[in-house]
Amino acid sequence: MATKAPLASHCLALADCRMCGHDNAVVPIVSGAASPKAMLVGQAPGRVEAAGGQPFAGRAGKTLFRWLERAGVDEKTARRRIYIAAITRCYPGPSPSGRGDRVPSPAEQEACSVWLDAELRIIRPRLLIPVGRLAITRFLPNLPLDQLIGRAHDVTHVGGRATAIPLPHPSGASSWIHQGNHPALLERALELIGRELAELGIGSGPGKRSVA
Ligand code: SF4
Repeated sequence: MATKAPLASHCLALADCRMCGHDNAVVPIVSGAASPKAMLVGQAPGRVEAAGGQPFAGRAGKTLFRWLERAGVDEKTARRRIYIAAITRCYPGPSPSGRGDRVPSPAEQEACSVWLDAELRIIRPRLLIPVGRLAITRFLPNLPLDQLIGRAHDVTHVGGRATAIPLPHPSGASSWIHQGNHPALLERALELIGRELAELGIGSGPGKRSVA
């Protein structure tokens, strides 16, 4: 089924969502991918994304797109061919602790899940890339990240079946990435993602220069 028109309508409706009653200046951040076959799901936009209007526009995004480059996909291609969603789409504001951003409340996660469910139904992605624990536990069991990252998982979601290949959050707030064999698990995950994306006709495969 063609996804372009329903996805465009969906994105227009999402951009107008004010369900959570955030400050008027806080608006949903929407992916620019038009007819994607893969989805990447993050946690929530940060301050930079909120100001710039596109997902993963800040420092975490720079790291994420460097990772995807290693999987054979440059940022421009990734933004065009992979639908970038999140558990919640509005900047939740700073954390009360003063360290990083506030984690979206369970009520916000529940409210925003209607948008993610709708995207899963429209796009029916064959590849899902959940990024960070909040997104990972939306699709996979709540296990230590060592048992989840670096592997491909068959999952069932509201839009059908997909291969889920999780990534740790690239924000730098977590030290997980630097511990023990975790760098090797990350590389393995990027290799798996590169292979899956290449099969979908996105990018050039892991370890090669990316082409649109
Ligand atoms: S977080 Fe999601 S549900 Fe809440 S206002 Fe933003 S788009 Fe709507």
